[in-house]
Amino acid sequence: MIETADVVIIGSGIVGSSVAYHLVEQGCKNVLVIEREAHQGKGSTGKSMGGVRAQFSTPVNIQMSRYSIDFFSRFDEVVGHPADYRAHGYLFCATTERHLDYLKANRERQISLGVKNVDLVSREEIGEFVPQLRFDDILGGTFCPTDGFVDPHSVMMGFMLNARTRGARLWLDTTVTGIEVNGSAGSAGILPADGGLNSTLPAPSRAPRRITGVNTTRGHVSTPIVINAAGPWAAEVARMAGADLPVEPLRRQLVPTEPFDGLPQRFPMVIDMSSGFHFRREGKGILLAWNDPEETAGYKTDFDPTFVEKILTHAAYRVPALAEAEVNPRRAWAGLYEMTPDHHAIIGSAPNIEGLYFANGFSGHGVMHSPASGRITADLVLHGNSDLIDASQLSVDRFAEGRLLEETAVL
Ligand SMILES: Cc1cc2nc3c(=O)[nH]c(=O)nc-3n(C[C@H](O)[C@H](O)[C@H](O)COP(=O)(O)OP(=O)(O)OC[C@H]3O[C@@H](n4cnc5c(N)ncnc54)[C@H](O)[C@@H]3O)c2cc1C
Repeated sequence: MIETADVVIIGSGIVGSSVAYHLVEQGCKNVLVIEREAHQGKGSTGKSMGGVRAQFSTPVNIQMSRYSIDFFSRFDEVVGHPADYRAHGYLFCATTERHLDYLKANRERQISLGVKNVDLVSREEIGEFVPQLRFDDILGGTFCPTDGFVDPHSVMMGFMLNARTRGARLWLDTTVTGIEVNGSAGSAGILPADGGLNSTLPAPSRAPRRITGVNTTRGHVSTPIVINAAGPWAAEVARMAGADLPVEPLRRQLVPTEPFDGLPQRFPMVIDMSSGFHFRREGKGILLAWNDPEETAGYKTDFDPTFVEKILTHAAYRVPALAEAEVNPRRAWAGLYEMTPDHHAIIGSAPNIEGLYFANGFSGHGVMHSPASGRITADLVLHGNSDLIDASQLSVDRFAEGRLLEETAVL
């Protein structure tokens, strides 16, 4: 029997699951999600810190967060599954006038785009949230009470379970090994693993090329539309269709402390802008995060034990009490961010390959932006445009055209 699907989604992480949900929600029936792992959540989604925030600097990120956070606040009712959205807020702490000016300018932009509850906070007000902070160098900050956390695994499962009850199919333990494109130089067929990018043959004619199917370890699937939702592996998947996608994996490490009662039971995500160190409560302990500037791109998913000392130095500086916290490096973990050159997502169709779409390159924001990304991708596939944002901003064409976006608030 020939397998067919109206849409094939490659990857069942939080993004692929949200895209499936939004396609089904908009009436698309024959959706097939293909996942190479035996369980969902083995990629970046299962490694995430679960932070959600509207405190960004660019309009497109603010708009995507605004839609997504509103969605998370209604998720349980709308999707029928818990998101575990906790509106504990994000508290940015500035130690330089430059950072404070940056937060003030961002706040103006956030308010102008409808995120009206971002407050400027003084050093004293910051102290009311977390009295244990070192304050002598803090000048002030911003706080948004509807920022907070979700449970990424639960959100992913909710999107997928809902989509499946309405007809979407999920193939686990199935790897997509090739993407079939016809129309390239008059030939039809599966491209080599590098998509022909390194071919020494003459360049094919620029006749429109069109998706016709995917090859998988479970056989061939005939489809006119493929959505790449392969997280940090997105560039490899794009290459299967001969497309170039500037997405690179970058290791990101998180360190949980053992139970620690030297900080309040409830407090916001706190961001020390002087170092980028940030932390939040996770159960009885504290979850510590820091972007190591020495990290280099690559598929590195082992936790590096030397990271513990580095992060604890930043932790103890900002929260002296954390010097007493116990850490078991075996409970720490590493995952992959999926970075683009301008740290913004790539959403939309691939140039010159009809039927290929990207929902990739979230640069560490894929959980918080999953509702908006799924909705925008479904809109583009089914209607060619989205009323949520001007999606052309996120098109992969921006790199070739020099229209890069600049987001400096990358955590
Ligand atoms: C340590 C860490 C902390 C983070 N913290 C946050 C945070 O606080 N807030 C936030 O918003 N984001 C955070 N992120 C980023 C977030 O986790 C990602 O942006 C998001 O999970 C991306 O989801 P995804 O579905 O695109 O990718 P993934 O979850 O990686 O899913 C991609 C899937 O594609 C599958 N796949 C790949 N290739 C193939 C193939 N050929 N065939 C079939 N299947 C394939 C993989 O197996 C995988 O399951 C964090 C990430 C890390 C690593």
